[in-house]
Amino acid sequence: MPEGDVVWRAARQLHAALAGRVLVRSDFRVPRFATTDLSGRSVTEAISRGKHLLTRVEGDITVHTHLRMEGSWRISRPSAYPPRDHRIRLVLANADWQAVGIQLGIVEVIRTSQESRAIGHLGPDLLGPEWDQEEAVRRLQAAPDRAIGEALLDQRNLAGIGNLYKAETLFLRGVSPWRPVGDVPELPELVGLAKRLLDANKDRVGQVITGDSARGMQTWVYGRAGRPCRRCGTIIRRSDQGNVLDERVTFWCPHCQLS
Ligand SMILES: [Zn+2]
Repeated sequence: MPEGDVVWRAARQLHAALAGRVLVRSDFRVPRFATTDLSGRSVTEAISRGKHLLTRVEGDITVHTHLRMEGSWRISRPSAYPPRDHRIRLVLANADWQAVGIQLGIVEVIRTSQESRAIGHLGPDLLGPEWDQEEAVRRLQAAPDRAIGEALLDQRNLAGIGNLYKAETLFLRGVSPWRPVGDVPELPELVGLAKRLLDANKDRVGQVITGDSARGMQTWVYGRAGRPCRRCGTIIRRSDQGNVLDERVTFWCPHCQLS
């Protein structure tokens, strides 16, 4: 599940491969934009906003994409023939590089001047240049009865957290995913911790929360249902929570996260 750190890194890689170069091929393999052709235009930049990717092209054009569940970008040297894979949704290529978007959840072409229609609902971006912790906390506190595990996933409150960072942040703060936001102690510290965890992982492949990058050792609770808590030995639990379709499952230690 790509979370904010993965999307941030994808944006950086897209920017390095595409920005400042003229597209020689664009291949939208989604019905709505099947005839869109951006060749001959220069890419100005690629940025992330929460879990959204914005690839800006000269002429007030933005290619808005989202990785959703399984999406990824592959960047390679351009091939002589169009890449063949039924999972490909978009190919953007210049003379030097080819960026192939696979299993993207969103692919759309919008006006750069109207990007807010696509991303205006997002809360402060944990990895963005204008991160505003006070605003994120204010938005979370606006619904004090909501379970914190659900509220952290709601990208309108703050943007970039998915299941892994939600579960790990709550474990490290000793807070149950079902605790109402209004009862969570030191909410600013909790939000600050989530940002630090994302920050610490954004430059590397793989998400390491425990400090141990060995396989199977990276997380405290995420993906560890049925195994003993690394701190107390209690069996880690897993359950559905909330109604975010892609991200319903949560993990927690019932001893370390009592309430
Ligand atoms: Zn525990």
